[in-house]
Amino acid sequence: MVADQWTGISEELRYEIGDSNHKNWIAPLECLGITDGVVRFRAPSRFVGDWVKRTYHDQIFARLQTLACDVSRMEFIVGDPTPRAAVAAPATSKAAQGDDLQGAPLDGKYHFDNFVVGKPNELAHAAARRVAEAGPVTFNPLFLYGGVGLGKTHLMHAIAWELKAKRPDLQVLYLSAEQFMYRFVQALRDREIMDFKNLFRSVDVLMVDDVQFIAGKDSTQEEFFHTFNALVDQNKQIVISADRAPGEIKDLEARISSRMQCGLVVDLHPTNYELRLGILQRKAAQFAQSYGSIKIDDGVFEFLAHRITTNVRVLEGALQRLFAFSSLIGQEVTLDMVQDCLSDMLRSSERRVTVEEIQRKVAEHFNIRLSDMLGPKRTRTIARPRQIAMYLSKEMTSRSLPEIGRRFGGRDHTTILHGVRKVVEMRTQDTQLNEDIELLRRLLES
Ligand code: ADP
Ligand code: MG
Repeated sequence: MVADQWTGISEELRYEIGDSNHKNWIAPLECLGITDGVVRFRAPSRFVGDWVKRTYHDQIFARLQTLACDVSRMEFIVGDPTPRAAVAAPATSKAAQGDDLQGAPLDGKYHFDNFVVGKPNELAHAAARRVAEAGPVTFNPLFLYGGVGLGKTHLMHAIAWELKAKRPDLQVLYLSAEQFMYRFVQALRDREIMDFKNLFRSVDVLMVDDVQFIAGKDSTQEEFFHTFNALVDQNKQIVISADRAPGEIKDLEARISSRMQCGLVVDLHPTNYELRLGILQRKAAQFAQSYGSIKIDDGVFEFLAHRITTNVRVLEGALQRLFAFSSLIGQEVTLDMVQDCLSDMLRSSERRVTVEEIQRKVAEHFNIRLSDMLGPKRTRTIARPRQIAMYLSKEMTSRSLPEIGRRFGGRDHTTILHGVRKVVEMRTQDTQLNEDIELLRRLLES
C-alpha cells in the first residue's frame, strides 16, 4: 500500500526540494513496501541512500507517518532495480535486511586453505578454526594480536568465509575498528543511535579488526565496550585483532583491556625461515595460475626467505614482482635476476646493525679494549678507532647523533658530529683508512 502512495509523496517532494534535487535523489528511489513498521526503499547506490537519509529523512518520514499505517522507521537497501513482479520477495528476504548489516568486504583470497601454518602462527590458526566451527562459544573474545602483515586480517576473513558457507543462518559482521567508529559517529550525527545499537546487538558473530585504532577515542571506546558486553552476555562470539596485546595498547581503557583478556588471547609471532619458505612455495603456486607457470631456479626461495624477514606482505610483493618481470621478459627466475629486480627491497630488509656491534667490531679490528672505546682516553690510537665507530654508527644505523652519543659513554652530540666529520675528511686523503672502513662495513653487513 505504501508503495502505491509513494508516487504521491514523491510528487509533493518535488515541489518542496526542486526539480533537480528531486531528479537526483528522490526519483531514483524505489519504494519496496512496509513490513513491521519499517518502510524500505531501494537506492541505486549506497551513496544515494545515505544522502537521502541524511538530507531528506524528516521530510519523507513526516509524510509516511500521515499515511495512517504504523511507520517506525525507514531503511535503504542498495541494488539494481528489480522487475516489478519480484519486488515483494527481496524486500523481506535476508539479503535485503542484511544490507544494513554489511560489514567491510571480504577478500576472496583470504581463506583457511591458503593460509600457511607454521610454528609462529599455529595457535592463532587453531583458535580461528575453532571459532569458524560455530560450535558452543568456549572463549570470548578471541583476541588475535601481532605485528603488521603476519596474517591477522587473513585469519579473520577466513573465519567469516567459513561461517558464511557453513552457517548462512548466522549474522556475521566483520569490520575494522575505524569503520566501527565511523558508523558510530554517523549514527550520532543522524540521531540514529538506537538503530546503531540494535544493529550491532543483533549480530551472531562480531569481528573487529585493528582495535588499537579506537584507543584514546573516548566515546567510541565507550560504545564499543557496551556493544561488546551486550554480545558477550548473549553468548555471541566476538573476534578482535590488534597490533599488540590488550594490556599494551596505550590509551585503551583498563576495563576494556581487562574484558579483552577474559577470552583467549593469542599472538602471531614473527615468521621464521620455514614458514616463509612455505608461504613462498604456496604463493608461487597461486601466482602460476595467473601468470602461467614460470621456472624458478633452485635457491631462489631459500634466498628470499633468508633475506626478506620483515613481513609476509613484503614477501608476497617480492614474489609478485618476480613473476611479473619474468613473464614480461620471458625468462626463468634466476638468483641474478632476483638481485637486480628486488635490489630496493633487499637493501631495506638488510640486517640491522647496532651501535654496540659496530663498537665491538671496530675495537677488535684496531686491537683496543671496548672499555677504552667508550671511556675518556684521547690518545690517537684510541680516539681514531672511536671516531671510525662513530662514523659507521651514523652511516649504518638509524640512530640520531644524541642517541649515538649516549652509547659512546654519554658523549655530547656535537662530539659525535665532530668525529663523523673528521672521518669523512680523512677518507678523502687516507687510502689505508678507507680500506679499513670498507672492510669493517662488509664485516658488519654480513
Ligand atoms: P595483518 O592483518 O596481520 O597485518 P594480513 O592478514 O593483511 O596481515 O596479511 C598480509 C598478507 O600476507 C596477506 O596478503 C596475507 O594473505 C599474507 N599472509 C600472512 N600470513 C600468511 C600465511 N600464514 N599464509 C599465507 N599468507 C599469509
Ligand atoms: Mg590487518
